[in-house]
Amino acid sequence: MANPKPEELVQIEYQPAPRDWMDPSVEFRKGTFCYSALAKNLNYLGLPNPREWQPLDKDWKLPPNWKQIVLDGMKERLEKYRSFRLFMDICVRCGACADKCHFYIGSGDPKNMPVMRAELIRSVYRRYFTAAGRLLGPLAGARDLTEDVIKEWFYYFYQCTECRRCSVFCPYGIDTAEITMIGRELLNLIGCNINWVLEPAANCFRTGNHLGVQPHGFKDSVDFAVDELEELTGIRVDASINRKGAEVLFIVPSADYFGTPHYYTFLGYLALFHEIGLDYTFSAFASEGGNFGLFNSHEMIKRLNAKVYAEARRLGVKWILGGECGHMWRVLHQYMDTMNGPADFLEVPVSPVTGTRFENARSTKMVHICEFTADLIHSGKLRLDPSRNDRWNVTFHDSCNPARAMGLLEEPRYILRNVCNRFHEMPENTIREQTFCCGSGSGLGTDENFEMRMRGGLPRANAVKYVRDKHGVNLLACICAIDKATLPPLLEYWVPGVEVAGVHELVGNALIMRGQKERTTDLRGEPLAEMEAAHA
Ligand code: SF4
Ligand code: SF4
Repeated sequence: MANPKPEELVQIEYQPAPRDWMDPSVEFRKGTFCYSALAKNLNYLGLPNPREWQPLDKDWKLPPNWKQIVLDGMKERLEKYRSFRLFMDICVRCGACADKCHFYIGSGDPKNMPVMRAELIRSVYRRYFTAAGRLLGPLAGARDLTEDVIKEWFYYFYQCTECRRCSVFCPYGIDTAEITMIGRELLNLIGCNINWVLEPAANCFRTGNHLGVQPHGFKDSVDFAVDELEELTGIRVDASINRKGAEVLFIVPSADYFGTPHYYTFLGYLALFHEIGLDYTFSAFASEGGNFGLFNSHEMIKRLNAKVYAEARRLGVKWILGGECGHMWRVLHQYMDTMNGPADFLEVPVSPVTGTRFENARSTKMVHICEFTADLIHSGKLRLDPSRNDRWNVTFHDSCNPARAMGLLEEPRYILRNVCNRFHEMPENTIREQTFCCGSGSGLGTDENFEMRMRGGLPRANAVKYVRDKHGVNLLACICAIDKATLPPLLEYWVPGVEVAGVHELVGNALIMRGQKERTTDLRGEPLAEMEAAHA
């Protein structure tokens, strides 16, 4: 079946069909759901109930005691996570979150309202864990746990990108992303997972990265980038791997060295580190900062992330620097030090160039590349020629996790304003804490899910369209590997003519390197607007 055209998809019906919200039946329509995880991936990760099944099957082959497994899992999590019990109890159904989810805006499906998404699990909580629900049943908003409810959970918890936009608007601070995470954990217990999450997780567990690139493949990729950067700049940089005693361990999402446009960002990092003489190393075993465990379970986050501190310890570095990625930073910023730490064998990061002590990384010992670069620029340590980016008219997409999960709002903007001459913000209610998701995060960026991705990405694309039409914006900069993979098809679909780039691609373009040859192209190999003999 061909994908729907934009003019069809934009016809959104916001008037819901007259149907009781308690009815759990779901129509699994092609283009709006993700395929189930292959049994081999569950087996590899040691996850329960591996089997071959698909969401379109009538019989999902659930284990015989599936209901008890889910209720026991729910009880365990209600006891373990105070936030989960609180989020089950305190919603007053004020509706402030109702129209804040990009999936609701793009689909018009009322069960994509955050309050309703949470209610899918809350109704089961009431039925089995509250006196009112046990006694009054549906009158108290309680529902029995049935196979249809499991199917409904699967459909809607995999139509939430865990972006947390809704939580910004909730007067009680209810975080529907965390409810979705618990929902996915419960599904996980009965073997209902999606392959786009578990295959990268299995790869990561085996080789250290989502793509399954082995250490020699990782080295080939880095060597290739070093050669290419030499062709572009005339400078051969040293990018060491597994070098013991380096000051800094640098960790990137694997897409940075394997996909485009991510790869140009990778070239930007290499150029920057050479120019400032940073004593750093990559690790061929921690060759992935991203962590698809975040989209599966707390346990999986911990397992996949353990390699970061393990490699820092093995290599004897002082601190860790991390590249442009979204969910990677949510894990590193919010979970890593308590899950895998304490990292007391590392030092509080200090920039060897500026002397700045990153107190915000006192516990994790890990600094975001945008914090690091913004500090270099602020301290006057870089020579920059923003005119090298003059073919771009730039806007910035706040990737959900760096923006909402770690508050990284100003640093990327500060960098962009220093490396580009033309920069325009999208409307205020679509950026910073209120940023709209790309629509494909949390493992939903699959081709089979194309229609739902385009629907979920509509609000983001709409804001890009606004600045394209008003200011002639032709480049969307971002700092997330998933964004760099999923925004290009989204923009091609809704806003043709706008490309996507990482912030450090633009830094690499503008950077004037000592000893460089006359630069005639940018990092994409495209001719520069002006020759720059003056800087040679
Ligand atoms: S904004 Fe918060 S309290 Fe209001 S309906 Fe949404 S989740 Fe419930
Ligand atoms: S976390 Fe994001 S995707 Fe999930 S319900 Fe809230 S706004 Fe929607």
